[in-house]
Amino acid sequence: MNATQKVALVTGATRGIGLETARQLAEAGVTTLLAGRDAGRAKAAADKLKAEGLPVESVVLDVTSGDSIAKAVADVTSRFGKLDILVNNAGILVDDMGKTPSEQTLAAWRETFDTNLFAVVEVTQAFLPLLKAAPAARIVNVSSQLGSITLHVDPNSPIYNFKLPAYDASKSAINSWTVHLAYELRDTPIKVNAIHPGYVQTDMNGGHGEIDVPTGAKSSVGMALIGAEGPTGSFTYLGKTLPW
Ligand code: NAP
Repeated sequence: MNATQKVALVTGATRGIGLETARQLAEAGVTTLLAGRDAGRAKAAADKLKAEGLPVESVVLDVTSGDSIAKAVADVTSRFGKLDILVNNAGILVDDMGKTPSEQTLAAWRETFDTNLFAVVEVTQAFLPLLKAAPAARIVNVSSQLGSITLHVDPNSPIYNFKLPAYDASKSAINSWTVHLAYELRDTPIKVNAIHPGYVQTDMNGGHGEIDVPTGAKSSVGMALIGAEGPTGSFTYLGKTLPW
């Protein structure tokens, strides 16, 4: 690998939008680290893409484990010494659809925030030195339009009747984190953006999404590959700005 070759890491890339994001980044010529919490499944997924001739390697990363994060950082440091693109894609939705907002358990709230918010902060903090070692790194936080409070209070919005409070609040929080980190890094070449992938046909919604997985990966991939003229601290879907 030559020094100008870009290196990306996609969390939660064993299936769904993350797997497709890894594929599309590799198709764009980026050396892509497909990260998954299960070593065997991550390797199997990476090997499949590799067999198609794509530059994909696997990395073991459980985003909720500090030990696992430290090992992944050490692994990427020794193999590449930098990271050009970090896509914080891993996420869970564990709100009980049969319950009202006030009935969701604290356990569900905690589990959701552990994976969808605290893990994103911890993974990003841990990889920041490697991102700073790249010429102009990109951080993409996979949020959701369900994190948009503006849309949640609008009775005419498509999400008005979808109130999954732990998940929704975790994505609102990711948006806020995105803005804060973008502010911290505003005088550096690093760009930090949040995206909504669309309502995508994955396991998360039992395959009931409106768009296919290849389309669902486009917002992450587009933001991962933006040039110097691109935004930072934004929240978009397929390049279109979404309300906070
Ligand atoms: P998915 O098919 O359920 O895949 C979720 C991925 O996250 C899996 O690879 C899973 O790994 C991984 N993951 C979960 N917890 C993890 C952990 N602790 N460590 C490492 N990986 C972990 O979901 P998806 O639809 O592709 O969702 C991807 C992202 O898009 C999520 O952040 C989600 O909130 C967001 N999103 C999705 C939609 C949609 O319509 N699908 C809409 C808006 C936003 P395992 O295989 O090991 O379980």
